[in-house]
Order: sequence, then structure tokens, then C-alpha cells
Amino acid sequence: MPELPEVEVVRRGLARWVAHRTVADVEVLHPRAVRRHVAGADDFAHRLKGHRIGTPSRRGKYLWLPVEDTGAAVLAHLGMSGQLLVKTAQAPDEKHLRIRVRFADTVGTELRFVDQRTFGGLSLHDTSPDGLPDVIAHIARDPLDERFDADAFHAALRRSRTTIKRALLNQSLISGVGNIYADEALWRARLHYERPTATFTRPRTMELLGHVRDVMNAALAVGGTSFDSLYVNVNGESGYFDRSLDAYGREGEPCRRCGTLMRRRPWMNRSSYFCPRCQRPPRPSRLS
Ligand SMILES: [Zn+2]
Repeated sequence: MPELPEVEVVRRGLARWVAHRTVADVEVLHPRAVRRHVAGADDFAHRLKGHRIGTPSRRGKYLWLPVEDTGAAVLAHLGMSGQLLVKTAQAPDEKHLRIRVRFADTVGTELRFVDQRTFGGLSLHDTSPDGLPDVIAHIARDPLDERFDADAFHAALRRSRTTIKRALLNQSLISGVGNIYADEALWRARLHYERPTATFTRPRTMELLGHVRDVMNAALAVGGTSFDSLYVNVNGESGYFDRSLDAYGREGEPCRRCGTLMRRRPWMNRSSYFCPRCQRPPRPSRLS
């Protein structure tokens, strides 16, 4: 599943290659790719045709393309394997090409949605006054958003009866943090994933948010993390941040800070990776 940095890399690619171009026509090659667009493939294609794409936007892991003068936006669901590729019209079709968008200009490139496992797709939604597709109106701002409210996030932690990793993955509190970057930020902050959030002091929350931003910015700087060979950015180039991960996927390897062997524990149908020495579990009395 792509996380915020991967999605931001795709957004930047679209901003460079697709923004401000007018759609000539849309070809839906597999109905599953537009199943979230309830009115169907013909409606999807018809409502895009002849309109200009605005500046691609993102909140957390959600990415959308505003459709100018329509009050609507195309929301991209990348799912497990979805890719948005910009290719020349002459490039052979990908085996799992699902949607093709041609443009009414002489640039010579088209936008392709390719998805092997068809969990992803594109759909059109009305937008709120601030430009957000209505179906993601409940998603909180992400920590890279300059309007993210760190004090409100801290207050929410204090009044929640939850643990820190659950809070980091709660998209209505803070968006864009997935399993990988949660483990990385918690390792950097020396915090165990089951620490109750009600015990957090303001400095501790601010330090953790700083680590979340750092780990995301580091990933962005190298083009996103790839754990899935299917993931490529908008130009078809793979991310390679996985080499610099400190926690995620490092079970049995020495902690880069203290040398203790890293552990993995099952956690909410996923895994949590941590250093048992740097990231001490909370006292049992705290867990209740
Ligand atoms: Zn350690």
C-alpha cells in the first residue's frame, strides 16, 4: 500500500505532466477500475471530456485531480498495485491497463491507470468549498500540511483512551501515516507502539510529530519507499527508500542505535517492528 511520500511523489509527477491539460477522451478498459464511480464508465468518460485538469492535490494518502469549471474532482485509489503512468501515445499498452486519458494538445503523452490486482480505480466526486472530494471530507490534515494543527492533535491524544500507534494510523486524527512510517517514527522517538496516548506530554507529542515529518521528508527526498515491485511513480521509476529503513522489516537485525536485535510482533493483522531496549513497553498497569 503506498504511503504519503509515495503518493506525494505521484502527485508531483502529475503536477508536472498532467496539470492544465484538456481531456480529449477517456477510455475505460475494465469496468472494475471505475466501480466507485456509481454512474458508470460512460458517465465518467463523458464528464471529463473537454475539461481542463487543475493542479493535482493530496491529503494524507488521498490524491485527486480537480476538473476545472465542474465543481468535481477525479479521486485516485491506488489500492495495492495501482499506478498512474504518463506514457507517449506510441508506447505499447501495459498488460493491466485499465483507463486511458488522452489530451487535446500536441504534447504527445497520455495518462494511464494500470492496476494488476484491480483493487484501485478512479472516480469522480463533487468537491467541498475548500476543494476536497466529498467522500474524504472526514480525513484529517497530514503532518506535512502547513495547516496541520499540532496542538489539536496533542489534545486529541490526551483525551483518547488509545495507544500511540493506533492513534498515528487513525486517519481522522492525523492522515498519511501508515504502518511503515509509524514504526519508523516510533523507533526514532524511542516509543513503544502500545504506549497509552493519555500519558503523552506536549513535548513528547511535538518530538514524535517531528520524527514523523523527518521520516516522511527523507522518503520524499529519494522518491518514496517501495516494498512492492509493482509500485512505480508517475514516470515509471521505482522508489528505493527501503534501504534506509531503521525499524520496519528488520526483525532479528541489530538496532542501529544500541545493537539489540529488533523484534516483530503481530499487531492489528499487521506487524510492529521495534527495539526491545530502546522502545520499552508501557508498564502493565498502564494498559488496563
Ligand atoms: Zn535499540
